[in-house]
Formats: sequence, C-alpha cells, structure tokens
Amino acid sequence: MPRTALCTALALALAATFPALAATAPEAARRLAQDAVIVDTHIDAPGLLEGAWTDLGEPAPDREFDYPRAREGGLDVAFMSIYTSARRDEDGSARQSAHAQIDSVEALAARHPDRFALLTSPGDVERLRAGGRVLLALGMENGAPLGDDLAQVQRFHDRGVRYITLAHSANNRIADSSYTQDKRWNGLSPFGREVIAEMNRLGIMVDVSHISDAATEQAVAASRVPVIASHSALRHFTPGFERNLSDALARAIAERGGVIQIPFGTAFVNPQAAADTQAYFRAIDAFDRRNAEHAAAGRPAEDRAAFVERWDREHPSPATAIDAVLDQIDHAVKLVGIDHVGIGSDFDGVDGNLPDGLRSVADYPNLVAGLQARGYAEADIRKLLGGNLLRVWAEVEAGAAR
Ligand SMILES: [Zn+2]
Repeated sequence: MPRTALCTALALALAATFPALAATAPEAARRLAQDAVIVDTHIDAPGLLEGAWTDLGEPAPDREFDYPRAREGGLDVAFMSIYTSARRDEDGSARQSAHAQIDSVEALAARHPDRFALLTSPGDVERLRAGGRVLLALGMENGAPLGDDLAQVQRFHDRGVRYITLAHSANNRIADSSYTQDKRWNGLSPFGREVIAEMNRLGIMVDVSHISDAATEQAVAASRVPVIASHSALRHFTPGFERNLSDALARAIAERGGVIQIPFGTAFVNPQAAADTQAYFRAIDAFDRRNAEHAAAGRPAEDRAAFVERWDREHPSPATAIDAVLDQIDHAVKLVGIDHVGIGSDFDGVDGNLPDGLRSVADYPNLVAGLQARGYAEADIRKLLGGNLLRVWAEVEAGAAR
C-alpha cells in the first residue's frame, strides 16, 4: 500500500529528529516491504505500557514501535509480547501483570480502530489489514501467568494469546530456562507436558525461545503440531550461548514443520554481546540466590539495582552491523530451508541495543534491501517476512480443530 501524505509528513518529522530512521532503503525494497505481509513475532511494547501508558497510535519517538513507523516500515502483524519476569513469577504478580498488559493492547485498538485491530486468527489478516491497519496479535513470553492451573491456558486463549514462550530467564513450573546453570526438570515438567497438550487443543503456538536445549527437544517431540521459536538466533555464531538454537535443534524444529524467527537484538546476533548476556543471567541468578540466603539468615539484602547498573556499565553493547542479522538468516536458510525462517525483532525489549539500520519498526525496508542485495528472490523474501509464520499459525489452528 502506498504511504499516505500524513505518514510521509510524520516520517519526515521523525527522520529529522532521528537521522537513523531516514528512508535509506532503495525504493524497490520499500515497495516490497509495503506490499508483503510482514509478521514480527516479538515486540515488547506492552511491558512498557504497563509501566507508563503511551499512545502508540501516535508518534512515540522514545519507543521502537508506534503506528506511524510501523506503517513506514510496512509492518502488518505485530505480535505484542505479554512478558512477565521470573521475579513476578516468584512474587505472585505475573498473572495480573499479563492481564494488565493485554488490557493495554486492547486499549490501543479501541482508541484507534482505524489504525490498529486485534488479530486472533491468521485467516483474518487480509481483511483486517485493509486500510493500513497494523494488526496486534498476542504472544505470552513466560508461562508464569498460568501458575499451576491448566484452566488458565483456555483463559488466556479467550483473551487472544496465540503463542506462549514456555519459560523465560529462570526455570519455571513448565520448563527449564536456557539461562540457568542448574536445571530443575531436565527439560519439561509433567505440568509442562499437560500445558503443551492443552495449547495444541486450543490452537496456541508452542514457543521454544528462551528454554533449555532439553526442554526444546522435548517440546518439539511432545507437540502434535509445528512449534515456533518466536525470537531465537543460531548458536553457530555465538558458541556456548544456550539461548540461541543449536543447528541440531533448528533442524528438529524445521523437520516437524516449524519456523525459526530471527531476532535483531545485538545480544543475540553479536558473539561478544551474546557471551556477555549469558554471563549476566548466570551472575544475576547467583546474585538472587545469595540474597535469598541472606534473607534466610536474617542478613540485609545486597542492592540489586546497583548490581545491574554496574554490570551494564562494565559490559557496553558493541556496535553491530545489519549484516549480523542477514548472516543469521543466510545460515538458517541454508540449514533448514527457506520455508522455516522468519523474523522476531525483540524491538522495545533490548534497551535499544540493536544493529545499525534495524533500530525500529520503520526499518524493515533495510532488511529487505539487504536480502535483495544477497540475491533472495521476491517470493522467498515474502516467506521470510511473514508467509512462513502465517503458514505455521494456520497449521496450529487447524490442528486444534481436529
Ligand atoms: Zn525474550
């Protein structure tokens, strides 16, 4: 769809403020980005909205996702990440947080019915995106809000959740995390297997991003339908970083029909940043355990915020080129085939630590230009941008009906 004059004016205003957002991609790339259905499976806007409401239907220059830039970049389906941390799992606030974040996504659509619509089925994409709407789908990052209650899977399906990332930075009731040193279940828990069966029954995609190798292998085997990795890069480039998929696991996902959504965040695609990220989660894990011991012994807690601040200061995110993301896509396509790769940026979830040229939802044309420069055919670029994810989603939906 051609950009409207209004969007162009907004884009120019934004480009003046943020030169990195200027329309640098060639016209052919911009045209394809507008025409293709772009599905980004991981945008962390709702967690920020929960902390401080921002109307993302209007320009929100301190965020990486807003309506004007989504249109500028050609984004059609934005999976809003309903993210809850391991700490919220522990203190019992994860379920309320998830509902509050879903409320905020609903509010965006309700305030701007001409700009946003909620999306719960891949079959509705063409109809709902007419008129330039950006479609908001829901992915739950961390199964913590389910607690130990299987009925919550249905509850969150009713609210629109269409994928669940089984765990996040810590082992939870469902699965082990890639970030922990001491695994709790050696993969999935018995409850985790029930959750997967229930997700299959309802048509919620199983997301293996963030979980341990053993949990990923078991989830792929346990699911009756293809699984996704909503935002996982390949470990090939980041040796020892369990958060990224090994070649063997990527192949296992693809062999069962699933799709690997490549993230943009520097922490996933830059080897140094990945090593730092792995080390951070180990360090914060140890820090939290130390504080738990302090609490048990009646000693005062160490300052967590100060620890995190010092860590960030000592581990600055390295400058990264867009080629790091293109290299990931190339490797994934060679490894598992063009039908099993997509994109899950992690915008608004990585503190702005992103490659040059991929800094917000305005920048998908730069990715398209990079793929064109590497010789990808138009039909293949369309698969990578969203076609593959929509196919898997439709399969998961069809599986639920059976
Ligand atoms: Zn994540």
